[in-house]
Amino acid sequence: MKKEPDIVKELREQEKTGKLTSSSAYSSLSNIHLQQSANPLTEEENKEDYLDVIRRIPEAYNIENEDEQLYKSLVENTLEGIVILNFKGNILFANPAIVKLFEFSSIKEIIGKNALNYIDQKYHEQIMNDQRLLQLRQESFLNTYKAVTAKGKQIWVECLGTKIKYNGKTANVVFVRDVTHRQATLDNYIKLEKKYRAIAEMSADGILTLDPLGKLTYVNPSFRAMIGRQQEQLTGEMFRDFIADEFIYLFQQIFLEARKKEEPIEHVEVELIHKNNHVIPVELSLSPLKEDNEFSGMVCTVHDITERKKMEEEIRKSEQLKTEFMNIAAHELKSPVTPIKGYLDLIISDENTDPKIKKWAQISLRNAERLLLLVNDILDVSRLDSDTMSFNMKKISINEVLNEVVEDMKPLIENKHLTFNVNISPDLPPILGDHHRLTQVLRNLLTNAIKFTDNGSITIAAKKTENHIVISVEDTGIGIPHSDLKKIFKKFYQVDTKDCRKNEGTGLGLYICKEIIKRHKGTIHAESTLGKGSKFIITLPYLQN
Ligand code: ADP
Repeated sequence: MKKEPDIVKELREQEKTGKLTSSSAYSSLSNIHLQQSANPLTEEENKEDYLDVIRRIPEAYNIENEDEQLYKSLVENTLEGIVILNFKGNILFANPAIVKLFEFSSIKEIIGKNALNYIDQKYHEQIMNDQRLLQLRQESFLNTYKAVTAKGKQIWVECLGTKIKYNGKTANVVFVRDVTHRQATLDNYIKLEKKYRAIAEMSADGILTLDPLGKLTYVNPSFRAMIGRQQEQLTGEMFRDFIADEFIYLFQQIFLEARKKEEPIEHVEVELIHKNNHVIPVELSLSPLKEDNEFSGMVCTVHDITERKKMEEEIRKSEQLKTEFMNIAAHELKSPVTPIKGYLDLIISDENTDPKIKKWAQISLRNAERLLLLVNDILDVSRLDSDTMSFNMKKISINEVLNEVVEDMKPLIENKHLTFNVNISPDLPPILGDHHRLTQVLRNLLTNAIKFTDNGSITIAAKKTENHIVISVEDTGIGIPHSDLKKIFKKFYQVDTKDCRKNEGTGLGLYICKEIIKRHKGTIHAESTLGKGSKFIITLPYLQN
């Protein structure tokens, strides 16, 4: 045994120095074989003569002697491991790549060993079958096994085995490739696939995959249950066949859109058809899949929104009922107030009325007016909330709106001994709006300004900026705390002040203003310094020529 590596070394030396010819190599090997055959290398029954193996390789590979040099270099330099085994699995020959792959120290160490020793136990049966197949038929096998190196490291090898004639007997040449890295990646993919499959199978939402034409390639149990087709084979069916007719076009559109944009499209409401023919409202989300940079289909999630739809319908119905009730109640409240006001006016204006009664009538009139104000505000809010407030939108002059309001409010401001500053640019561009509703907004702002200002001035200003008309109503009144500036535009919100001014209002005015301005595609906000005054600023888009 000791001599063997020396001989191989010697041959390699000769090869390096160019002394080795194919015939000299062959004869050297033959000679050695002759020497050695008299003195067997091992007592093990199955062990083949190492040198004989080497000598026979050209024969095994069907290579002419003249090609021996080429063959040697190929076999020794290839990265692919090559082993020749007898059918008991004993290694008759191994090339240097096998030594490296299986972490042996030399070829000598390998020869005679049984290959199964280096294959994971779990794969023994498979390997035996592969071998048997080879023996019985003239076929080759290609398989991947888990292997163990001489140092105990676990590796994955892909083996291509085929039958050869070797030493007069049939043997098995196996080309061994290290696929540890590939297998690890594959393992990860398998683990991931298992994980995602489990998630899909457990999901309460329907999950499906579609091929580029929209055919189902996977459906999870929830989707089957959703459409009542638990037992049926759904893969291969067109997904659109389960969509209600009126939504098929929409589905096709979003399918194409997601494909074109290469982006997911979410929350598209469509209806599916249950096996029993009833419709199921669902929300679809589609996400395109790519393989090798090519569109390969879609992942689609299907969320059943039956319950949500039911609730939405109930809310819609109750909103409708509420609006109807508010409208009726407000109208019913309004009608008796008008004659009450009329009679109170009569009492007040009658010269014969006792002054005491006159005073009581005046108080009653003020309250009747407040009641009317409240009823009107409630009516407006209910119309705005139910989107039934009519807007007579047309091209209007904002200067006309402003002038009308200024004229109307002037006496009230002057009555309170406040200075009224009017700073309105003439020739403001026209806007698209409702004259009546805009005067309502400005009156409300000026009424508030008067109500919350005891001294100083009220200023109304308007000017044109690049894209908007900016209108402001400013006062020198009590001001609004910073934390309340946004809240005052909410329904019924009133700033908590110690005085009783808030009792005069409803807390609905600014909400109505905000909603009306919103319908004009404008904005409204407030600025204020507590104790110094407030400024309400409106922007409205104007009509470009
Ligand atoms: P209200 O009918 O109470 O005036 P609004 O919605 O018009 O209802 O106003 C809401 C609240 O905003 C008022 O109650 C008041 O607290 C505050 N507010 C509105 N305008 C002014 C202002 N010019 N100065 C001070 N506070 C104001």
